[in-house]
Amino acid sequence: MTVPQANGGVVVNGSAQVVKGPAPLDASKTVVTLAENLKAVPPAEELIFGQTMTDHMVSVTYHPVTGWSNPEIKPYANISLDPACSIFQYSTSVFEGMKAYVGPDGKPRLFRPEMNMQRMKRSVARIALPAFDVDELLKLIKKLVAVESRWIPNVKGHSLYVRPTIIGTRPSFGVRASDHAILYVICSPTGPYFRTGPKPVSLYAVGEQVRSWPGGTGEFKLSLNYAPTFWPQQLAAEKGYDQCLWLLGEDQHITEAGAMNFFVVVKRDDGDLDVFTPPLDGTILPGLTRASVLRLTVAHGETTTLPNLAHSLKLHTSERRITMVDLFSWNDAGKLAEIFLVGTAAVVAGVGRVGFEGRELDAGAMGPVAKALYERLTDIQEGKVEFEGWCVHVDDA
Ligand SMILES: *Cc1c(COP(=O)(O)O)cnc(C)c1O
Repeated sequence: MTVPQANGGVVVNGSAQVVKGPAPLDASKTVVTLAENLKAVPPAEELIFGQTMTDHMVSVTYHPVTGWSNPEIKPYANISLDPACSIFQYSTSVFEGMKAYVGPDGKPRLFRPEMNMQRMKRSVARIALPAFDVDELLKLIKKLVAVESRWIPNVKGHSLYVRPTIIGTRPSFGVRASDHAILYVICSPTGPYFRTGPKPVSLYAVGEQVRSWPGGTGEFKLSLNYAPTFWPQQLAAEKGYDQCLWLLGEDQHITEAGAMNFFVVVKRDDGDLDVFTPPLDGTILPGLTRASVLRLTVAHGETTTLPNLAHSLKLHTSERRITMVDLFSWNDAGKLAEIFLVGTAAVVAGVGRVGFEGRELDAGAMGPVAKALYERLTDIQEGKVEFEGWCVHVDDA
């Protein structure tokens, strides 16, 4: 009999055997323990983002000698840790945000999950947490989603939010990399970001506190990037705005807004539209919604037509620096068509007011390009439209 131990090793037939070299993450060794009492699934319309957790979680530990333990899918439970652990002292923590949807065939699927896995691998490397095999983690996530499939609301705009997390658990004050870790995955059913239909987001441009900087960690999904944004976010809220618009540098160029990627649509003299987003220069989180939006705007008029946009409407997509001077001059010239934000949680959100140094512009409500992208993306995610193999089924784990 093989019994997984808390230290990540295994006890085989009662005698401790030390595996030679740290063991790699191996989803085929998963031990599944189902919860005896399942929670009641709340009605889809009552779901609040990130508040309800499902019945089970994935949990795996890393020990520097034995490596990754046998993965467990087990009832959702607290984690007990030494208070000296690296995560509490030095914020050694990485996470991902992804969604599972149920398609018209009743089967659960994930949206471009390999991109989340690759990004998580880069985040883990950036703060020197133990490496893991991305294919094995994806198999584990698929197994968990299959176990939790009754939690995926089968209602448009609803999904199961999946949060893979790795925390450093080295129990020491030594200021260095954590060579112990826990990898876990938890899930939360979620509804549309804006229950009462698309309500424009208002932004307050902030240059004094910055979210990211050249050589910093803004392009990785590290927990340590988020805490410093909460106070500026409160200041923006006190001024009556929903989110911060994060600026950087003397030219006050835009990086992101809140925890979403930024897009602007500008009218051209020839009647076409420009679609701009800041380039991935190391200060921008490489969102997979951002990448998908760029792909869809480029494909519009070529291989596909976005909903309710004319096939002949040309969208000129480019990644370029966007300053506050650009934004206000497009606005003053009557060329500012739309501003919108993209990310897994809200998918696409239209921007209305933007406040900056005592001035304000109003980009209106969610415009036709943002609406078309929202419709197309959610149709692809919910399996109603197939596009370039972006959705993968979970039952092949
Ligand atoms: C997660 C995140 C995004 C959006 O990325 P997606 O992969 O599209 O969900 C954008 N900006 C920040 C800062 C983020 O943390």
